Amino acid sequence: LIEVEGVKKSYGEVVVFNGISMAIEKGEFVALLGPSGCGKSTLLRMLAGLERPDAGVVKFRGEPIREPRREIALMFQFPNLLPWKTALDNVALPLVARGMSWGEAREVAARYLSFVGLSGFEEAYPRQLSGGMQQRVALARALAVEPEVLLLDEPFSALDPLTAESLRSELVKMWHDNLTTIHTMAMVTHSVDEAVYMANRVVVFSPRPAKIVADLRIDLPYPRNRRSQEFQKYLD
Ligand code: ATP
Ligand code: MG
Repeated sequence: LIEVEGVKKSYGEVVVFNGISMAIEKGEFVALLGPSGCGKSTLLRMLAGLERPDAGVVKFRGEPIREPRREIALMFQFPNLLPWKTALDNVALPLVARGMSWGEAREVAARYLSFVGLSGFEEAYPRQLSGGMQQRVALARALAVEPEVLLLDEPFSALDPLTAESLRSELVKMWHDNLTTIHTMAMVTHSVDEAVYMANRVVVFSPRPAKIVADLRIDLPYPRNRRSQEFQKYLD
């Protein structure tokens, strides 16, 4: 579905990638692991079309990705909501930007807020919501444009452990049970446990210039972590 072919990327003197290739197939959930500064976020930004390689190409369905596209959504460590807009309007705005009327966009936005467990918070402003709730709004905003691919850059690192744990299992369920338009995910993480718990493939990068040093498929059944199921009763 997504192909990275011979990609090179430098920032000034800093060579981040010196010819890297990998492919992400439809339906995969790939965890990307590697030391700090090796280029994981840079790679995600290139997959999302926010940045271009210096050489080589990133393709989506065989077509070079030259700019952000609706089919590929990106979620960051911090939710980056607009503080002066309600939760509902934060989710609706990208739809309006794509030509939908506010009325229709708010209907869709309300549906996705409810999907992430935030019914009743439509009119709340970001500052009135906890970090975890804000991250859920960001997830709703990413889902609302109905993309096929979700890219996540350390999405839990700013959350408290229990909120992170419940969001982790919800994302796995969403992907595994095909509850949304998203069937393919790639997630940057610093945690091997998190990678193995969530993903069905783990790609490990070396320090800069980053090379793939391991590419493992995980053939364990879901759900994977009994400990987290035991935690479930303490969540939410
Ligand atoms: P971390 O695990 O700490 O998030 P990372 O693997 O995501 O690290 P990147 O953020 O992709 O690493 O950065 C890779 C390298 O490129 C780093 O040395 C970083 O300083 C450099 N870099 C990234 N973006 C820029 C930029 N916009 N301008 C200059 N240098 C950059
Ligand atoms: Mg990063």
